[in-house]
Amino acid sequence: MVKYKYALLIFLISVFSVSCSSENEEDNVEPGIDKTANLQGLGDSAEDLLSDVSFTSMNIEIVYVNGYAPNEAALANFKNFLEERTFKPDGINISLRAVSPSGKTEFSIEDIVEIEKETRTIYNAGDEIAVYIYIADGSSEKDEDNKFTLGSAFRNTSMVIYAKTIQDFAARPNAPSESDIEAAVLNHEFGHLFGLVDIGIEPQSDHKDEDNAGHCNIEDCLMRASIEFGSGIIDEIEGGRVPALGSHCIRDLQAAGGR
Ligand SMILES: [Zn+2]
Ligand SMILES: [Zn+2]
Repeated sequence: MVKYKYALLIFLISVFSVSCSSENEEDNVEPGIDKTANLQGLGDSAEDLLSDVSFTSMNIEIVYVNGYAPNEAALANFKNFLEERTFKPDGINISLRAVSPSGKTEFSIEDIVEIEKETRTIYNAGDEIAVYIYIADGSSEKDEDNKFTLGSAFRNTSMVIYAKTIQDFAARPNAPSESDIEAAVLNHEFGHLFGLVDIGIEPQSDHKDEDNAGHCNIEDCLMRASIEFGSGIIDEIEGGRVPALGSHCIRDLQAAGGR
């Protein structure tokens, strides 16, 4: 059996925080819809997403560009991840909707914010908290030769997945399957919405990655900033074993009202 030399591919999932400036607020008022609660900073709704104190159900709107529908297995893994960590007695609903390509191939977070403004239709309502996920047909403008941003959580209930980058990555020799990468990125980015690590929720132990804000320094944890896909990691992800949260991250979530 041929042994490949694995290129050191770093998958960097970065965190951007876009704060809501007051001058934008007028744009966000439409008759009957108050969007303000969904336009806060990253981590600001961690407890609302985790616990059932204010919100007993969650409504996730996934908007994907035609041709980039998320994989069913990835969605099932994602939903399971959310159910394992949250208290939502009235359920977690995920809806999917296709949109036309934006025409761009590289995106800044500001671009994604604009797209969200045009395509998001679901906001918090009563005891239901809403989350928006955009599946982009391109890549982050921050990508470098060996560093790919696969997704970003950028507001309290908003995140983007760079599906084109994931497809290209999965096409490399010995890379994990597209579905497994997709699930890992969805779960990782949602971990940031949950406030990990030290983004709006209090770390219960010393596991902060000092070099990469918002990330965990525990080996094999889902919230590590970079995962180097050497043979070991590839073996681990094979068979659909997507990286899981380590016990330190889980404790943080539990202390903030999660399961
Ligand atoms: Zn991250
Ligand atoms: Zn961790």
